[in-house]
Amino acid sequence: MRENQVDVVIIGGGVIGCAIAYNLAKQQVNSLVIDKATRVGTEASWAGAGILTSHASTHEPYPELCRASLALYPSLAVELRAETQIDIELIQSGTLSVFFNPAEAAGLIGLADRRVKRGFAAEVLTAEEAWRLEPALSKTIAGAVLFPEDAQVRNPKLVTALAKGAAQLGTTFKLGNPVTGFIRENGKVVGTVVNGETVYADTFVIAAGCWAGNLIAMLDFPMPIVPAKGQIVLIETMPPLFQHTIDGLGIYVVPRADGKLLLGATVEFVGYDKTATLDGVKQMIDAGISIAPALAQSTFVQTWAGLRPYAKKGPVLGYLPGYDNVVLASGHFKNGILLAPITGQLIAELLTTGEPSLALEPFQPSVA
Ligand SMILES: Cc1cc2nc3c(=O)[nH]c(=O)nc-3n(C[C@H](O)[C@H](O)[C@H](O)COP(=O)(O)OP(=O)(O)OC[C@H]3O[C@@H](n4cnc5c(N)ncnc54)[C@H](O)[C@@H]3O)c2cc1C
Repeated sequence: MRENQVDVVIIGGGVIGCAIAYNLAKQQVNSLVIDKATRVGTEASWAGAGILTSHASTHEPYPELCRASLALYPSLAVELRAETQIDIELIQSGTLSVFFNPAEAAGLIGLADRRVKRGFAAEVLTAEEAWRLEPALSKTIAGAVLFPEDAQVRNPKLVTALAKGAAQLGTTFKLGNPVTGFIRENGKVVGTVVNGETVYADTFVIAAGCWAGNLIAMLDFPMPIVPAKGQIVLIETMPPLFQHTIDGLGIYVVPRADGKLLLGATVEFVGYDKTATLDGVKQMIDAGISIAPALAQSTFVQTWAGLRPYAKKGPVLGYLPGYDNVVLASGHFKNGILLAPITGQLIAELLTTGEPSLALEPFQPSVA
Protein backbone atom coordinates (compact mmCIF):
# COMPACT_ATOMS: atom_id res chain seq x y z
CA MET A 1 0.00 0.00 0.00
CA ARG A 2 1.39 3.42 -0.98
CA GLU A 3 1.20 6.52 1.13
CA ASN A 4 -1.90 8.52 0.15
CA GLN A 5 -3.73 5.38 -1.08
CA VAL A 6 -7.46 4.71 -0.67
CA ASP A 7 -9.73 1.91 -1.88
CA VAL A 8 -12.03 4.03 -4.03
CA VAL A 9 -11.75 7.60 -5.27
CA ILE A 10 -14.99 9.21 -6.41
CA ILE A 11 -14.46 12.28 -8.57
CA GLY A 12 -17.49 14.54 -8.13
CA GLY A 13 -19.51 15.26 -5.01
CA GLY A 14 -22.86 15.89 -6.69
CA VAL A 15 -25.92 13.78 -6.00
CA ILE A 16 -24.51 10.92 -8.09
CA GLY A 17 -21.08 10.84 -6.43
CA CYS A 18 -22.60 11.17 -2.96
CA ALA A 19 -25.19 8.44 -3.62
CA ILE A 20 -22.41 6.11 -4.74
CA ALA A 21 -20.29 6.98 -1.68
CA TYR A 22 -23.27 6.39 0.63
CA ASN A 23 -24.09 3.01 -0.88
CA LEU A 24 -20.44 1.92 -0.83
CA ALA A 25 -20.11 3.01 2.80
CA LYS A 26 -23.14 0.89 3.70
CA GLN A 27 -21.18 -2.07 2.24
CA GLN A 28 -18.18 -1.14 4.43
CA VAL A 29 -16.24 0.24 1.46
CA ASN A 30 -14.75 3.58 2.35
CA SER A 31 -14.19 6.02 -0.44
CA LEU A 32 -12.64 9.43 -0.85
CA VAL A 33 -14.91 11.94 -2.60
CA ILE A 34 -13.00 14.69 -4.40
CA ASP A 35 -14.77 17.84 -5.60
CA LYS A 36 -13.49 21.05 -7.11
CA ALA A 37 -16.05 23.03 -5.09
CA THR A 38 -15.63 23.75 -1.41
CA ARG A 39 -18.99 22.09 -0.60
CA VAL A 40 -20.75 19.03 -1.98
CA GLY A 41 -23.70 19.39 -4.33
CA THR A 42 -23.19 22.95 -5.53
CA GLU A 43 -23.67 22.32 -9.26
CA ALA A 44 -26.56 20.64 -11.15
CA SER A 45 -27.56 18.78 -8.01
CA TRP A 46 -28.24 22.06 -6.24
CA ALA A 47 -29.84 23.76 -9.24
CA GLY A 48 -32.35 21.03 -10.09
CA ALA A 49 -36.08 21.20 -9.46
CA GLY A 50 -36.27 17.90 -7.56
CA ILE A 51 -39.16 16.39 -9.51
CA LEU A 52 -39.31 12.60 -9.34
CA THR A 53 -41.19 11.54 -12.42
CA SER A 54 -41.55 8.02 -13.68
CA HIS A 55 -43.20 8.75 -17.02
CA ALA A 56 -40.01 9.06 -19.04
CA SER A 57 -41.15 8.49 -22.60
CA THR A 58 -37.99 6.91 -23.95
CA HIS A 59 -37.60 3.19 -24.61
CA GLU A 60 -36.89 0.48 -22.06
CA PRO A 61 -34.73 -0.13 -20.11
CA TYR A 62 -34.45 3.59 -19.25
CA PRO A 63 -37.96 3.82 -17.74
CA GLU A 64 -37.17 0.65 -15.77
CA LEU A 65 -34.24 2.49 -14.17
CA CYS A 66 -36.55 5.42 -13.33
CA ARG A 67 -39.20 3.15 -11.78
CA ALA A 68 -36.61 1.26 -9.73
CA SER A 69 -35.15 4.51 -8.43
CA LEU A 70 -38.51 6.07 -7.56
CA ALA A 71 -39.37 2.90 -5.63
CA LEU A 72 -36.22 3.31 -3.48
CA TYR A 73 -37.12 6.84 -2.35
CA PRO A 74 -39.62 6.22 0.50
CA SER A 75 -37.27 3.95 2.45
CA LEU A 76 -34.25 6.15 1.63
CA ALA A 77 -36.06 9.20 3.03
CA VAL A 78 -36.83 7.36 6.28
CA GLU A 79 -33.28 5.99 6.51
CA LEU A 80 -31.61 9.36 5.89
CA ARG A 81 -33.86 11.06 8.41
CA ALA A 82 -33.01 8.48 11.06
CA GLU A 83 -29.27 8.54 10.34
CA THR A 84 -28.67 12.21 9.58
CA GLN A 85 -31.71 14.03 11.02
CA ILE A 86 -32.18 15.61 7.59
CA ASP A 87 -35.65 15.61 6.07
CA ILE A 88 -35.25 15.41 2.29
CA GLU A 89 -38.87 16.62 1.92
CA LEU A 90 -40.11 13.69 -0.14
CA ILE A 91 -43.68 14.58 -1.09
CA GLN A 92 -45.90 12.60 -3.42
CA SER A 93 -47.48 15.69 -4.90
CA GLY A 94 -48.42 14.09 -8.24
CA THR A 95 -48.10 15.87 -11.58
CA LEU A 96 -51.03 17.50 -13.34
CA SER A 97 -50.07 17.89 -17.00
CA VAL A 98 -52.37 20.39 -18.66
CA PHE A 99 -53.25 20.62 -22.36
CA PHE A 100 -54.66 23.51 -24.33
CA ASN A 101 -55.45 21.95 -27.74
CA PRO A 102 -56.15 18.58 -29.44
CA ALA A 103 -52.51 18.05 -30.47
CA GLU A 104 -51.26 18.48 -26.88
CA ALA A 105 -54.14 16.29 -25.63
CA ALA A 106 -53.18 13.46 -28.04
CA GLY A 107 -49.53 13.59 -26.90
CA LEU A 108 -50.40 13.52 -23.21
CA ILE A 109 -53.08 10.83 -23.54
CA GLY A 110 -50.54 8.68 -25.44
CA LEU A 111 -48.09 9.21 -22.58
CA ALA A 112 -50.81 8.26 -20.07
CA ASP A 113 -51.48 5.01 -22.01
CA ARG A 114 -47.79 4.11 -22.05
CA ARG A 115 -47.51 4.82 -18.39
CA VAL A 116 -50.55 2.69 -17.51
CA LYS A 117 -49.08 -0.18 -19.57
CA ARG A 118 -45.98 0.07 -17.34
CA GLY A 119 -48.10 -0.34 -14.23
CA PHE A 120 -48.45 3.28 -13.17
CA ALA A 121 -51.61 5.27 -12.65
CA ALA A 122 -52.70 8.06 -15.01
CA GLU A 123 -56.09 9.70 -15.13
CA VAL A 124 -57.37 11.82 -18.02
CA LEU A 125 -59.38 14.74 -16.62
CA THR A 126 -61.80 17.21 -18.19
CA ALA A 127 -61.02 20.89 -17.70
CA GLU A 128 -63.73 21.06 -15.00
CA GLU A 129 -62.16 18.13 -13.11
CA ALA A 130 -58.72 19.77 -13.35
CA TRP A 131 -60.09 23.11 -12.04
CA ARG A 132 -61.68 21.27 -9.10
CA LEU A 133 -58.22 19.90 -8.21
CA GLU A 134 -56.36 23.15 -8.90
CA PRO A 135 -58.71 26.17 -9.03
CA ALA A 136 -55.90 28.56 -10.07
CA LEU A 137 -55.46 26.86 -13.46
CA SER A 138 -56.30 29.01 -16.47
CA LYS A 139 -59.88 28.87 -17.81
CA THR A 140 -58.35 28.29 -21.26
CA ILE A 141 -57.03 24.78 -20.55
CA ALA A 142 -58.83 22.03 -22.48
CA GLY A 143 -58.11 19.27 -19.93
CA ALA A 144 -55.31 17.58 -18.04
CA VAL A 145 -53.76 14.23 -17.18
CA LEU A 146 -53.04 13.42 -13.55
CA PHE A 147 -49.96 11.29 -12.79
CA PRO A 148 -50.57 10.71 -9.06
CA GLU A 149 -47.39 8.77 -8.25
CA ASP A 150 -44.97 11.54 -9.24
CA ALA A 151 -43.16 13.05 -6.30
CA GLN A 152 -40.58 15.67 -5.40
CA VAL A 153 -37.63 16.06 -3.03
CA ARG A 154 -35.60 19.05 -1.91
CA ASN A 155 -32.45 18.14 -3.84
CA PRO A 156 -29.90 20.26 -1.90
CA LYS A 157 -31.05 18.53 1.29
CA LEU A 158 -30.80 15.13 -0.42
CA VAL A 159 -27.15 15.68 -1.38
CA THR A 160 -26.28 16.98 2.09
CA ALA A 161 -27.98 13.99 3.72
CA LEU A 162 -26.23 11.46 1.44
CA ALA A 163 -22.85 13.10 2.12
CA LYS A 164 -23.46 13.28 5.86
CA GLY A 165 -24.67 9.67 5.95
CA ALA A 166 -21.61 8.56 3.99
CA ALA A 167 -19.24 10.58 6.23
CA GLN A 168 -20.74 9.03 9.37
CA LEU A 169 -19.93 5.61 7.92
CA GLY A 170 -16.31 6.49 7.15
CA THR A 171 -16.29 8.24 3.75
CA THR A 172 -13.80 11.10 3.54
CA PHE A 173 -14.04 14.25 1.44
CA LYS A 174 -11.38 16.37 -0.25
CA LEU A 175 -13.20 19.55 -1.23
CA GLY A 176 -12.08 22.67 -3.07
CA ASN A 177 -9.72 20.52 -5.14
CA PRO A 178 -10.11 19.84 -8.87
CA VAL A 179 -8.80 16.61 -10.33
CA THR A 180 -6.53 17.68 -13.17
CA GLY A 181 -5.06 14.41 -14.39
CA PHE A 182 -4.49 10.70 -13.96
CA ILE A 183 -1.38 8.68 -13.29
CA ARG A 184 -1.07 5.50 -15.32
CA GLU A 185 1.35 2.64 -14.80
CA ASN A 186 1.54 -0.01 -17.52
CA GLY A 187 -1.72 1.31 -18.99
CA LYS A 188 -3.60 1.02 -15.69
CA VAL A 189 -4.85 4.05 -13.79
CA VAL A 190 -3.23 4.09 -10.35
CA GLY A 191 -3.74 7.68 -9.23
CA THR A 192 -5.39 11.04 -9.75
CA VAL A 193 -3.65 14.37 -9.67
CA VAL A 194 -5.26 16.82 -7.26
CA ASN A 195 -3.58 20.21 -6.78
CA GLY A 196 -0.29 18.75 -7.93
CA GLU A 197 -0.51 15.94 -5.40
CA THR A 198 -1.23 12.32 -6.36
CA VAL A 199 -3.98 10.37 -4.65
CA TYR A 200 -3.62 6.65 -5.29
CA ALA A 201 -6.57 4.23 -5.31
CA ASP A 202 -7.58 0.75 -6.41
CA THR A 203 -10.70 2.00 -8.15
CA PHE A 204 -11.77 5.34 -9.61
CA VAL A 205 -15.37 6.46 -10.12
CA ILE A 206 -15.91 9.44 -12.40
CA ALA A 207 -19.15 11.12 -11.30
CA ALA A 208 -18.27 14.64 -12.38
CA GLY A 209 -21.57 15.57 -14.01
CA CYS A 210 -21.16 17.61 -17.20
CA TRP A 211 -17.39 17.77 -16.63
CA ALA A 212 -17.07 13.98 -16.81
CA GLY A 213 -16.39 14.14 -20.57
CA ASN A 214 -13.26 16.23 -19.95
CA LEU A 215 -11.95 13.69 -17.45
CA ILE A 216 -12.55 10.63 -19.64
CA ALA A 217 -10.92 12.49 -22.56
CA MET A 218 -7.74 12.52 -20.40
CA LEU A 219 -8.06 8.73 -20.44
CA ASP A 220 -8.28 8.74 -24.25
CA PHE A 221 -11.99 7.97 -24.22
CA PRO A 222 -13.62 10.73 -26.31
CA MET A 223 -17.27 10.24 -25.38
CA PRO A 224 -19.12 13.58 -25.37
CA ILE A 225 -20.90 14.46 -22.12
CA VAL A 226 -21.92 18.08 -22.46
CA PRO A 227 -23.60 20.74 -20.32
CA ALA A 228 -27.31 21.42 -20.95
CA LYS A 229 -28.14 24.66 -19.19
CA GLY A 230 -31.42 24.92 -17.32
CA GLN A 231 -32.79 28.13 -15.86
CA ILE A 232 -35.21 28.27 -12.92
CA VAL A 233 -37.34 31.09 -11.51
CA LEU A 234 -38.36 30.98 -7.84
CA ILE A 235 -41.51 32.88 -6.86
CA GLU A 236 -43.82 33.10 -3.88
CA THR A 237 -47.59 33.36 -3.69
CA MET A 238 -49.60 33.84 -0.55
CA PRO A 239 -51.45 31.56 0.01
CA PRO A 240 -49.61 28.83 -1.96
CA LEU A 241 -51.29 28.43 -5.35
CA PHE A 242 -50.92 24.71 -6.14
CA GLN A 243 -50.91 21.30 -4.45
CA HIS A 244 -49.63 19.36 -7.48
CA THR A 245 -46.65 19.88 -9.73
CA ILE A 246 -48.15 21.46 -12.85
CA ASP A 247 -46.69 20.71 -16.24
CA GLY A 248 -47.55 22.39 -19.56
CA LEU A 249 -46.42 24.70 -22.38
CA GLY A 250 -42.90 23.30 -22.05
CA ILE A 251 -42.45 24.26 -18.39
CA TYR A 252 -43.29 22.95 -14.94
CA VAL A 253 -44.42 24.66 -11.75
CA VAL A 254 -43.29 22.87 -8.57
CA PRO A 255 -45.01 23.76 -5.26
CA ARG A 256 -42.22 23.35 -2.70
CA ALA A 257 -42.73 22.31 0.91
CA ASP A 258 -41.70 25.83 2.04
CA GLY A 259 -44.62 27.36 0.13
CA LYS A 260 -42.51 28.78 -2.72
CA LEU A 261 -43.01 27.82 -6.37
CA LEU A 262 -40.31 26.85 -8.86
CA LEU A 263 -40.85 27.63 -12.55
CA GLY A 264 -38.49 25.65 -14.76
CA ALA A 265 -36.64 25.00 -16.85
CA THR A 266 -34.98 25.93 -20.12
CA VAL A 267 -32.81 23.43 -22.01
CA GLU A 268 -29.90 25.23 -23.71
CA PHE A 269 -26.72 23.87 -25.24
CA VAL A 270 -24.51 26.93 -24.70
CA GLY A 271 -21.40 25.43 -23.13
CA TYR A 272 -20.33 25.99 -19.53
CA ASP A 273 -22.37 29.15 -19.10
CA LYS A 274 -24.56 29.47 -16.00
CA THR A 275 -25.98 32.93 -16.62
CA ALA A 276 -29.67 33.41 -16.07
CA THR A 277 -30.94 35.46 -19.02
CA LEU A 278 -33.94 37.73 -19.43
CA ASP A 279 -35.04 35.66 -22.40
CA GLY A 280 -34.94 32.40 -20.43
CA VAL A 281 -36.69 33.91 -17.43
CA LYS A 282 -39.33 35.55 -19.68
CA GLN A 283 -40.12 32.22 -21.41
CA MET A 284 -40.89 30.61 -18.08
CA ILE A 285 -42.81 33.54 -16.65
CA ASP A 286 -44.93 33.88 -19.83
CA ALA A 287 -45.73 30.16 -19.87
CA GLY A 288 -46.42 30.17 -16.12
CA ILE A 289 -48.91 33.04 -16.42
CA SER A 290 -50.63 31.31 -19.35
CA ILE A 291 -51.06 28.22 -17.15
CA ALA A 292 -52.22 30.20 -14.11
CA PRO A 293 -52.97 33.93 -14.63
CA ALA A 294 -52.79 34.57 -10.86
CA LEU A 295 -49.04 33.94 -11.03
CA ALA A 296 -48.72 37.46 -12.47
CA GLN A 297 -49.32 38.74 -8.92
CA SER A 298 -46.68 36.52 -7.29
CA THR A 299 -43.51 37.83 -5.67
CA PHE A 300 -40.29 37.28 -7.59
CA VAL A 301 -37.71 35.65 -5.28
CA GLN A 302 -34.69 34.46 -7.25
CA THR A 303 -33.47 33.01 -10.50
CA TRP A 304 -30.58 30.65 -11.23
CA ALA A 305 -29.16 28.27 -13.81
CA GLY A 306 -27.41 24.92 -13.61
CA LEU A 307 -25.70 22.56 -16.04
CA ARG A 308 -27.25 19.14 -16.59
CA PRO A 309 -24.90 16.38 -17.80
CA TYR A 310 -26.15 15.38 -21.27
CA ALA A 311 -24.99 12.24 -23.08
CA LYS A 312 -26.60 11.30 -26.39
CA LYS A 313 -27.77 7.83 -25.34
CA GLY A 314 -28.80 8.71 -21.79
CA PRO A 315 -27.12 7.79 -18.49
CA VAL A 316 -23.70 6.12 -18.82
CA LEU A 317 -23.00 3.66 -16.05
CA GLY A 318 -20.22 1.12 -15.98
CA TYR A 319 -16.54 0.41 -16.50
CA LEU A 320 -14.77 2.60 -19.00
CA PRO A 321 -13.82 0.32 -21.93
CA GLY A 322 -10.13 -0.50 -21.74
CA TYR A 323 -9.96 0.02 -17.96
CA ASP A 324 -10.84 -2.56 -15.32
CA ASN A 325 -10.74 -0.10 -12.43
CA VAL A 326 -12.35 3.08 -13.81
CA VAL A 327 -16.12 3.44 -13.61
CA LEU A 328 -18.17 6.21 -15.21
CA ALA A 329 -21.50 7.39 -13.75
CA SER A 330 -22.80 10.44 -15.55
CA GLY A 331 -25.13 11.66 -18.31
CA HIS A 332 -28.28 11.69 -16.15
CA PHE A 333 -29.44 14.87 -17.89
CA LYS A 334 -32.96 15.85 -16.69
CA ASN A 335 -33.37 12.94 -14.28
CA GLY A 336 -30.27 12.81 -12.08
CA ILE A 337 -32.14 13.53 -8.85
CA LEU A 338 -34.68 10.83 -9.68
CA LEU A 339 -31.95 8.37 -10.68
CA ALA A 340 -29.49 8.99 -7.83
CA PRO A 341 -30.71 6.19 -5.50
CA ILE A 342 -30.60 3.46 -8.16
CA THR A 343 -27.29 4.75 -9.57
CA GLY A 344 -25.74 4.67 -6.10
CA GLN A 345 -27.01 1.16 -5.50
CA LEU A 346 -26.00 -0.28 -8.90
CA ILE A 347 -22.50 1.20 -8.94
CA ALA A 348 -21.89 0.00 -5.37
CA GLU A 349 -23.08 -3.48 -6.40
CA LEU A 350 -20.83 -3.38 -9.47
CA LEU A 351 -17.81 -2.55 -7.32
CA THR A 352 -18.54 -4.90 -4.42
CA THR A 353 -20.07 -8.01 -6.03
CA GLY A 354 -19.57 -7.45 -9.76
CA GLU A 355 -23.27 -8.24 -10.17
CA PRO A 356 -25.56 -5.22 -10.29
CA SER A 357 -29.21 -6.08 -9.60
CA LEU A 358 -30.24 -4.45 -12.90
CA ALA A 359 -28.21 -5.11 -16.04
CA LEU A 360 -25.87 -2.22 -16.82
CA GLU A 361 -25.00 -3.35 -20.38
CA PRO A 362 -27.53 -0.95 -22.01
CA PHE A 363 -25.86 1.96 -20.18
CA GLN A 364 -22.23 1.04 -20.97
CA PRO A 365 -19.96 3.95 -21.90
CA SER A 366 -19.35 3.91 -25.65
CA VAL A 367 -17.97 6.40 -28.14
CA ALA A 368 -20.31 5.26 -30.94
C1 LIG B 1 -32.47 23.56 -13.92
C2 LIG B 1 -32.38 22.09 -13.66
C3 LIG B 1 -33.52 21.39 -13.31
C4 LIG B 1 -33.44 20.02 -13.04
N1 LIG B 1 -34.55 19.38 -12.58
C5 LIG B 1 -34.48 18.07 -12.25
C6 LIG B 1 -35.60 17.40 -11.72
O1 LIG B 1 -36.65 18.00 -11.50
N2 LIG B 1 -35.49 16.08 -11.44
C7 LIG B 1 -34.33 15.37 -11.66
O2 LIG B 1 -34.32 14.18 -11.41
N3 LIG B 1 -33.25 15.99 -12.16
C8 LIG B 1 -33.29 17.31 -12.46
N4 LIG B 1 -32.20 17.95 -12.99
C9 LIG B 1 -31.03 17.15 -13.36
C10 LIG B 1 -30.16 16.83 -12.17
O3 LIG B 1 -29.99 17.98 -11.37
C11 LIG B 1 -28.81 16.29 -12.67
O4 LIG B 1 -29.00 15.23 -13.57
C12 LIG B 1 -27.96 15.79 -11.51
O5 LIG B 1 -27.86 16.77 -10.51
C13 LIG B 1 -26.57 15.39 -11.98
O6 LIG B 1 -25.82 15.06 -10.84
P1 LIG B 1 -24.27 14.84 -10.94
O7 LIG B 1 -23.81 14.47 -9.58
O8 LIG B 1 -23.97 13.91 -12.08
O9 LIG B 1 -23.71 16.27 -11.42
P2 LIG B 1 -23.37 17.59 -10.56
O10 LIG B 1 -24.37 17.86 -9.55
O11 LIG B 1 -23.08 18.65 -11.57
O12 LIG B 1 -22.05 17.19 -9.81
C14 LIG B 1 -20.82 17.02 -10.44
C15 LIG B 1 -19.74 17.42 -9.45
O13 LIG B 1 -18.46 17.13 -10.00
C16 LIG B 1 -17.58 18.16 -9.60
N5 LIG B 1 -16.45 18.18 -10.53
C17 LIG B 1 -16.49 18.40 -11.85
N6 LIG B 1 -15.25 18.32 -12.38
C18 LIG B 1 -14.40 18.04 -11.35
C19 LIG B 1 -13.01 17.84 -11.26
N7 LIG B 1 -12.20 17.90 -12.34
N8 LIG B 1 -12.47 17.59 -10.05
C20 LIG B 1 -13.25 17.52 -8.95
N9 LIG B 1 -14.59 17.71 -8.98
C21 LIG B 1 -15.17 17.95 -10.18
C22 LIG B 1 -18.43 19.42 -9.64
O14 LIG B 1 -17.89 20.46 -8.85
C23 LIG B 1 -19.77 18.90 -9.14
O15 LIG B 1 -19.94 19.09 -7.74
C24 LIG B 1 -32.21 19.33 -13.21
C25 LIG B 1 -31.06 20.03 -13.55
C26 LIG B 1 -31.14 21.42 -13.76
C27 LIG B 1 -29.88 22.16 -14.08
